[in-house]
Parts: sequence; C-alpha cells; structure tokens
Amino acid sequence: MNIADAHCHLESEEFEGRLDGVLAEARNTGVTQIVTAAVRPEEWAKSKAIASATLGAPTCFDGTLAGRDAGAPRISFAWGIHPWYAAEHHFSDLERLATAAREGAVAIGEIGLDRKIESPAFGLQQRLFEAQLEVACDINLPVVMHCRGAFNELVESLRRVGVPKAGGMIHAFSGSVEMAEICLGLGLVFSMGASLSYKPSKKRLQVLGRIYPDAFLIETDSPDMPPAQAPDKPNVPANIRYNLAGVAAMLGRTEEEVAEVSMRNAGRLFGF
Ligand SMILES: [Zn+2]
Repeated sequence: MNIADAHCHLESEEFEGRLDGVLAEARNTGVTQIVTAAVRPEEWAKSKAIASATLGAPTCFDGTLAGRDAGAPRISFAWGIHPWYAAEHHFSDLERLATAAREGAVAIGEIGLDRKIESPAFGLQQRLFEAQLEVACDINLPVVMHCRGAFNELVESLRRVGVPKAGGMIHAFSGSVEMAEICLGLGLVFSMGASLSYKPSKKRLQVLGRIYPDAFLIETDSPDMPPAQAPDKPNVPANIRYNLAGVAAMLGRTEEEVAEVSMRNAGRLFGF
C-alpha cells in the first residue's frame, strides 16, 4: 500500500533527534509520500533541509521508489506563516516567501484563519493570509489552509484575492457540506485526519459523501491531532493507518482504494 500523508509538520521540535525513527515507522506502515508544512519563517530552511535529506532523487512518483534512500518516504515541503504566528514583522518575510517555488517548495502553507484564538488579532491574521495568498497566486503554487471558525471569512478572502491556478487544500476540514460545496466551487480540495478515527457524525458522513473520491486527501497533522487509537503525543505519520481505517469503514471502501485515491489527489495538487 502507498499512503500519502498530505499534511504534517516534520520541522516540529517534537521530532527533533528522532526523525529517522519516525520516518522508518512511517515507511513500515506504507507511507511513501509526505508533505511537511512549515508554520513560520524560522522553520523554512529546516523544512527544505528535511525534504532534501530524505528525498532520494526521484522527481516523479510512479509507485516505486528509486535512488539513494530507496524505501524511505519521499518528502515534499510547503512554506508559510500559520495564523497562530501572525505578526507585523512577518510582512517583511513575504519577499522570501516569493522564492518558495524556486527553493523547491510544492505549496504555500500552512496559512489561514483562526477565530478560536484571541491573539493574534483576527484583522492581522486576515491581512497576512491575504498577502500570502497573493504570493501563492503570483508564483502559482497551491495553498495549504488552516481554518477554524472562520469559513465565511476564508471564502471572502479567497474571492477577494483569488485562488492560485494550481489550487488549494483546506486541511483538517471541519466545515459543513454546504461549505464544502462552496469551496469545491472555488476549486479547492480537502484533507482530513484524526477526525476520521472517531465515531462518524452525520455531518462528517455527508461531507465525505460529497468530497470523496475526487477532492479527498488524508493526513495526520502530526505531531498534533493524535487519532483516537493512539492518543499519546507526539502524533506521528505512521498513525495515518488509523485515519485510513476509519475513513475506509465510513465509506465502505477498502483501505487500498482510499489510499490510492488520496495519493492520486495529493499528487495532482502538489505535483508529484
Ligand atoms: Zn497543520
């Protein structure tokens, strides 16, 4: 089985000194592709270094791995400033963000909006989100978005600034089927993680019924969001097996099929 973890944070301090083991465990579970997302400029160099160190050499995914690190998951990276780290001084990092594609990033993210936190101020989050969205449109990289309690505002920003031609993904999607419909209209896709390991709600089944197969990706968001069956932190990419088992059961599909479908969607979005 070839599983793509469409969204996690290998740059996190929680993986410091144990990344090799974490990646070996992921490989043993069938994870062959990972997209890691930096959440602030201080992590950007590390993000790129992790991807280059573990990426053998292959440039296109054909179901097999080649090169020096045959067998290790291939890692692609994204650069962004997460709404939790929004700050005025980060506007001066946008010029460097505009070099992301040249540096090898496959997406701009994690960026987005979060109404469930008091600080940074929501207005600042919006300005920084839109500025990064503009960069993504300019250099035509897809966006990886975080959104909590602010879907209407997210859609407003996307309509105001535009969606990159390369597309975009809302990660850990928690919105309604109506919101999913609006986002599909904007050309977005959705990634889901630990929520798939929990008992399905009617709302989740409705959303899955609408976005599967063409707009569905699977993720861990590790080291955050541990699944129900492995609640200890840090969460790891290998735990994607619980999310995969959960969603396969909800959809009445095999794990192999769901893995294949989400790998294909991830490959289309991120270009691997
Ligand atoms: Zn994340």
